[in-house]
Amino acid sequence: CHDLNLILTPYDILRLKKCLGLKSWDFLKRYTSVHVGPGSGLPVVMLKMEGADMKCPFLETGKGCTVYDDRPGACRTYPLARISCRSKDRNGVEEFYYIVKEPDCLGFQDGVEWTVEEWVKNQEIKPYNEINDIFGELLQAKIEVGDPSLTADQIEIFYRGCYDLDEFRRFFLKGPNLDRYLESGEIIRKITNDELELLKYGIRWVKKRLFQGTCLTCKATHRTRQT
Ligand code: SF4
Repeated sequence: CHDLNLILTPYDILRLKKCLGLKSWDFLKRYTSVHVGPGSGLPVVMLKMEGADMKCPFLETGKGCTVYDDRPGACRTYPLARISCRSKDRNGVEEFYYIVKEPDCLGFQDGVEWTVEEWVKNQEIKPYNEINDIFGELLQAKIEVGDPSLTADQIEIFYRGCYDLDEFRRFFLKGPNLDRYLESGEIIRKITNDELELLKYGIRWVKKRLFQGTCLTCKATHRTRQT
């Protein structure tokens, strides 16, 4: 839990900000750094390590991981890593796991054998994978569009819809945008009452707005954040 390049996914952020009782913008400002990926052109959110020893901010001496029940998907999956792809033949997502065998991982010395299926169940990784796959559809849509560059406004839309969920709620559910996008009453009820549904909606909304239709020129005031 030191000196990690830990990229946070939209679902990681949802779980962590709820666990810490923070609004998404407070969590993002306090615990993360954001850069635009040179290859993807998309915002990448990373957990900021702390101090000279580059410790995870959630690691406490004598206590271990203080957000254990809501730790990020990568922490749960390790020492496995997951690759997924959409399979036309199987009409769904195909997934592959490989082992990241590092000498620091003491689990390898236990002599206990796990199947991948047992590990995924034991670490409660399924809900993380489910949202990651929806996020993967968005990334795939970006690739299919071809042009890698996004404007600053488009990057802001991506960031808000996928990562800054409380800001997205304010922008979408409490602003004039609700009328503008004319969603059904059932959808509005669902995303108003359930943050997970709001996150799924946000990711799909970004996909539709940026990569599957006319690009949205957002007229709302954009807040500039220091990260
Ligand atoms: S979130 Fe928990 S498990 Fe993950 S790196 Fe930090 S302390 Fe370790």
